[in-house]
Amino acid sequence: MNADEIVDRFYVEHGPCCAGCDWWAPANSCVGECRRSAPVSGAQRISMLGMRSPSIQPEAGHIMTPREHHCGEFKDDFDWNTLPPQYLRRIGHAAAIRARDEGVRGC
Ligand code: SF4
Repeated sequence: MNADEIVDRFYVEHGPCCAGCDWWAPANSCVGECRRSAPVSGAQRISMLGMRSPSIQPEAGHIMTPREHHCGEFKDDFDWNTLPPQYLRRIGHAAAIRARDEGVRGC
């Protein structure tokens, strides 16, 4: 399983969070950079990861966030139906959509 699939599975399981946000670019399966706002200094860039005195100072860039983080700018406009049905089933997304649609119809 590659990092993208791990991130997608995390999003399907946990709901709105950086892992499923259109603004997020994963660096690996656990952290990524939020491209919603302008780049910041290296120290600011990693502060949300709880890193205060890294041995190597990162370069300036977009803020790094853990995949479980969630803010008011969350956005998921991605058309998941463009992905193969087998992949959607494997990450549990097809079941999540079905449950959501059945919930809507039941209201
Ligand atoms: S949820 Fe907020 S912090 Fe996370 S990637 Fe989206 S806009 Fe950035």
